[in-house]
Amino acid sequence: MPRQRPRISFEYFPPRTEEGKAKLLQDTTPALNALEPAFFSVTYGAGGTTRDSTLGVVSAMREAGIDVAPHLSFGGDNESTVGALVDSYIERGIKRMVALRGDTPSGMGGSSQLVYASELVAFIRARTGDHFQIEVAAYPEIHPQARSYDSDIHYLKAKLDAGANSAITQYFFNVESYFYFLDQCSAAGITKPIHAGIMPIINFANLARFSRNCGAEIPRWICQRVEGYGDDQDSIRKFGVEVVTQLCQTLLDSGAPGIHFYTMNQVEPTREIYLNLGLQPGT
Ligand code: FAD
Repeated sequence: MPRQRPRISFEYFPPRTEEGKAKLLQDTTPALNALEPAFFSVTYGAGGTTRDSTLGVVSAMREAGIDVAPHLSFGGDNESTVGALVDSYIERGIKRMVALRGDTPSGMGGSSQLVYASELVAFIRARTGDHFQIEVAAYPEIHPQARSYDSDIHYLKAKLDAGANSAITQYFFNVESYFYFLDQCSAAGITKPIHAGIMPIINFANLARFSRNCGAEIPRWICQRVEGYGDDQDSIRKFGVEVVTQLCQTLLDSGAPGIHFYTMNQVEPTREIYLNLGLQPGT
């Protein structure tokens, strides 16, 4: 029997400028949508800082007939603000959502109380029943604030038990961390799909900085290789495509249910990696 096509999705963040938004909607989205992803998703700034811009991008994509999922967290908002936002997504025909705790925005000094993702999932389910397909976050290398490896899996299960349909992971470059994590999740009684989040290598310096904060490890051999290329951006780009293609190929060959690309709002190198994998529509 032919293997089912893996679920492919593409993540955006809401652009800061009108020009950025126009480019995303008019250039990037048609190019990536031609690859027939299952859906796009649009992130939500820490503390609700992109409430309007996330809604704006999601609405415009939905009006263009695209299946798109807003990310959502309570941020510093109360139930009535978050509830109104959820309702407005229903009015716009949105059927999918990525539910998160989020982080405290820098500068707020940790003053606002973060609401766990499991509570947000329960809130959305209580308010909207089965309307949304809900995704939650998972961490093969374990969330930086988790009490322990097992407790993080325990709380992932709590989010799924609260009504989320599936999970998308933080990006990783160690394929073993993902498959070990899947085994541990399965042993803990998790049966819902855990899709692999994949970060194409675009700007290595930024990626290295971000990875330190979010607890995703870039293996030493990758850092060494990139360092060796110095300012040769073309070689870094080619190496990045090769490494990430290989990672995705291993994931798909070993039965990962799908891949969620953190596109960084760029068509390339996500498209190149996707084409390398032979995932073209109709194949
Ligand atoms: P939770 O699942 O609530 O877990 C947070 C931490 O608390 C974990 O350490 C967990 O082990 C622990 N925990 C959970 N429940 C409990 C409990 N009841 N008691 C004690 N401890 C508990 N951030 C954004 O700001 N905007 C985005 O759009 C965004 N999109 C993302 C998309 C994906 C696919 C991923 C993987 C991450 C994304 N993030 C985003 C980052 C995410 O918000 C942060 O990693 C955040 O720190 C944790 O969010 P969470 O939903 O995983 O939290």
